[in-house]
Amino acid sequence: MKVCKFGGTSMANARTILKVVDVIEGDLSRHYIVVSAPGKRTPEDVKVTDALYACFNEVKKMGNCNESFKVIDRRFREIVQDLGVDIDIDAELEEIKAGIEGSTTPDYAASRGEYLSAKILAARLNYEFVDAFDLIKFNEKGELLLHYSLDRVKAKLSTLQYAVIPGFYGSDSHDNVRTFSRGGSDISGAIVARAMKADIYENWTDVDGFLTADPRIVENPTTINCLSYKELRELSYMGAEVMHPESIFPVYSVGLPINIKNTFNPAHPGTMIVKSVDQADGSNIITGVSGQKGLTIINIEKNLMNSEVGFVRRVLSILEYEGISFEHLPSGIDTMSLVIRDEYLNGKMQRILQKIKESVNPDNLEIHSGLSLVAIVGHNMAFRQGTAATVFKALSDAHINIRMIDQGSSELNIIVGVDTCDYEKAINAIYYAFTKEQ
Ligand code: ADP
Ligand code: ASP
Ligand code: MG
Repeated sequence: MKVCKFGGTSMANARTILKVVDVIEGDLSRHYIVVSAPGKRTPEDVKVTDALYACFNEVKKMGNCNESFKVIDRRFREIVQDLGVDIDIDAELEEIKAGIEGSTTPDYAASRGEYLSAKILAARLNYEFVDAFDLIKFNEKGELLLHYSLDRVKAKLSTLQYAVIPGFYGSDSHDNVRTFSRGGSDISGAIVARAMKADIYENWTDVDGFLTADPRIVENPTTINCLSYKELRELSYMGAEVMHPESIFPVYSVGLPINIKNTFNPAHPGTMIVKSVDQADGSNIITGVSGQKGLTIINIEKNLMNSEVGFVRRVLSILEYEGISFEHLPSGIDTMSLVIRDEYLNGKMQRILQKIKESVNPDNLEIHSGLSLVAIVGHNMAFRQGTAATVFKALSDAHINIRMIDQGSSELNIIVGVDTCDYEKAINAIYYAFTKEQ
């Protein structure tokens, strides 16, 4: 029995939805289908979810979303018409617009793309639509209640042979809609797969699986045949958006395999994601390269920092007070650095620097913005000498300055910080250096 999730790239318009229908109807073991909101039809297009957030923002400013809602109206009417499904689209759109205009948080608005997308696909397939509002449960802080959700999914879906369920959202105990973070339909799919004890969780997208690098940066990267949950988490957390980094947690303890597949090339085997490292691909030195832009590094230097008990705790408590998490914390004898996402520092930087000065009185305090991180990931790196050398030589040959180096203690990754202007060049240099070796 398979549980399938189709992403926004697969649900973008009637043409792509018909491909989805072919995939589902081509294999009757595909019982429970989780869908995203319609995504981009072209690289310049707008995702329905982004358009829905824009509606909410217009309501905050204007009290209604008359302008922004036109995009939603047009997209869904076109899909319904082109597919010829029997849905009262006037009533649906009217209810959604009124709901957005009456809500105080963006979650309801954001969730409606998945809601309507699932209703339309259910009508086309003649499957039951089951609202994720009743299945996926969050606490007041917006944290997923996994076991409660698993029980609810199982109780409901066990009564149905086939069903379509919207991804990305659920509800809390006050009956407010709550969403996961962006790309969260991958998590919804994993919850349904685990609850229904699926043999496999198929995650359908627009590329031939998890690729060794971002196809928008590297030309024609190869597909990774098989990777472990941990490698997936490293690569996706570091920027490979093809899967949400939290999507492995619902399936982790039971080791349910995930198969990333291409809706537009269904014959391709795609990528298998498995729990055990032994099952993962054994031949390559590195499994993949990913990365992200938009980081700042705060360097703190103080003589005898190593013997000053509580130094790091005092610095970190400043971040805790400001509600900021950090990505990396490389340190030397008398230095420590904090790598933080720019978005977390917005409007807070000067205050944080001032607090660091007051709290630990550093000899030197510097900030460098415009940092990007590149992660080289793979279980096999731990058993091979010279991996780091290959990375550093590739960057040096490409005349790229390394601003930071961090290697996880599991030796599953090497992370380097480079100036953002060198980011794409760095990914390509590393990718080609390993392609030559493997
Ligand atoms: P979906 O709408 O199916 O959820 P996403 O847009 O979230 O799809 O993710 C798929 C996209 O992720 C691909 O089109 C690709 O451009 C991008 N991507 C970035 N890094 C990778 C990678 N390492 N492997 C595959 N795709 C990647
Ligand atoms: N539609 C949501 C987003 O764009 C969730 C998803 O696609 O997984 O983030
Ligand atoms: Mg996605």
